[in-house]
Amino acid sequence: MARYVFITGGVVSSLGKGIASASLGALLQARGYKVRLRKLDPYLNVDPGTMSPYQHGECFVTDDGAETDLDLGHYERFTGRPANRQDNITSGRIYSDIINRERKGDYLGGTVQVIPHVTDAIKDFVLSGNEDTDFVLVEIGGTVGDIEGLPFFEAIRQLGNELSPGGAVYIHLTLMPYIPSAGELKTKPTQHSVKELRSIGIQPDLLLVRADRPIPEAERKKLSLFCNVPPSAVIQALDVASIYDVPAAYHAEGFDAEVLSAFGIDNAPEPDLSRWHEISRRTKNPEGEVTIAVVGKYTELKDAYKSLIEALVHGGIANKVKVNIDWIGSETFEKADPAPFLEHVHGILVPGGFGMRGTEGMIAAAGYARKRKIPYFGICFGMQMAVIEATRNLAGVPNAGSTEFGPCEEPVVGLLTEWVKGNELLKRQAGGNMGGTMRLGAYRAYLAPGSRIAEIYGKTEIEERHRHRYEVNVAYRERLEAKGLRFAGISPDGVLPETVEMPDHPWFIGVQYHPELKSRPFQPHPLFSSFIAAAMEQTRLV
Ligand code: GLN
Repeated sequence: MARYVFITGGVVSSLGKGIASASLGALLQARGYKVRLRKLDPYLNVDPGTMSPYQHGECFVTDDGAETDLDLGHYERFTGRPANRQDNITSGRIYSDIINRERKGDYLGGTVQVIPHVTDAIKDFVLSGNEDTDFVLVEIGGTVGDIEGLPFFEAIRQLGNELSPGGAVYIHLTLMPYIPSAGELKTKPTQHSVKELRSIGIQPDLLLVRADRPIPEAERKKLSLFCNVPPSAVIQALDVASIYDVPAAYHAEGFDAEVLSAFGIDNAPEPDLSRWHEISRRTKNPEGEVTIAVVGKYTELKDAYKSLIEALVHGGIANKVKVNIDWIGSETFEKADPAPFLEHVHGILVPGGFGMRGTEGMIAAAGYARKRKIPYFGICFGMQMAVIEATRNLAGVPNAGSTEFGPCEEPVVGLLTEWVKGNELLKRQAGGNMGGTMRLGAYRAYLAPGSRIAEIYGKTEIEERHRHRYEVNVAYRERLEAKGLRFAGISPDGVLPETVEMPDHPWFIGVQYHPELKSRPFQPHPLFSSFIAAAMEQTRLV
């Protein structure tokens, strides 16, 4: 039967609850257990798909087409287990289901209330589908004390009673700030946070305490005393150089052993962490460096490109090099010549994006990479912008554009209104609902034998994750192929261009999907490995 670990956060946000949860998952997995990670998000959006990346960071897309919290990306990268629609829920989704049922009359005249109806729905979600799992790790978004988090805390409190004895363990992640004038790490914020948690009925079993320097023994004892946990269950979580150092670092502090002992398990096999040590070794001792310019719209907020950054790191791990990222807001190139910004870089990547702002700058970056023969990787929007650039400047169609930016005379990128998923025909209309209506999730594509991209993948049939409303218009294919932009990847029905490439360029590839979502530290995505290898070639020329 599955055991449950509930992970809550206190004091401040951004302490790395997602990475801590993912690391615990990796450690338990390394001991031979089957783990599943799930995230409960207290906000009222039904999913993060409609939120700006500035608000919420990246929206992580699963194979089954759910738009989810970016922590699910960490879970996948750390455990290798593909997440699905049932691994993330929000208050919005719970309330919307309950209200729909209420309208249908499902509650038979009863009053519908937060307790028990909302809390029951949360508990049903947490408990469902865990049959072949040893440990279910449930991360609660936000920080203890948030008003909207209360039903979630209440639901996990109830579960502590309802699960068989020893069936649930509570971990609270907090911060000990260092106060320079006192020369001390302070315990008080953690004390208050645990007090808040206990006031709603949850006594944590473990404290995972972030600190920028080692926690002195006296302070550890103080936390133990005031927060009512054994001293061994106060785990210090010090800053480390890379997120991939976290599992081994937390293991060294006794984190996973302490979690197991809270469940009464004292004879678990030791974890095999050799692959984590190998990743750390490679990231600490690179044999070279490359610089990649990422030219995008949300470059001030790195969380907006979480999976992309990690996929680039993985490409570096595969090639044993360090990848430096030069973040460039694409609007820069609408006013300035790209050359001074791009002359020193070894590769240019234009990532996914939405809306018109900054697009002429992305088009300029694609043109610069094409003409200067610098490796270019266009992802989703980045492919669309590269195709617009080629249509304008190679095929001689100056008005080429995307209907995403308004009516367009030469819509080389247009709204996707009909497409096939499996045996189903999906339809969309302009002006319809925005939430959950993009082309989402895993789709198959065929790669032309002999194309560069087929050679990189080592196969001609792939499945990658999508998240877009617009697509490259296949009607322009012949004109563009005649000018050297090959439509190498195409949907099984032959109507949706999936990848483009320039055979007479060292490395120029655009993909309509998001390969970064499937890259893992132990299995770097072939496109990222190949792109970084091409950038390495470039270092010999720059
Ligand atoms: N805005 C584009 C579209 O909807 C690209 C989306 C993306 O890059 N994910 O098609």
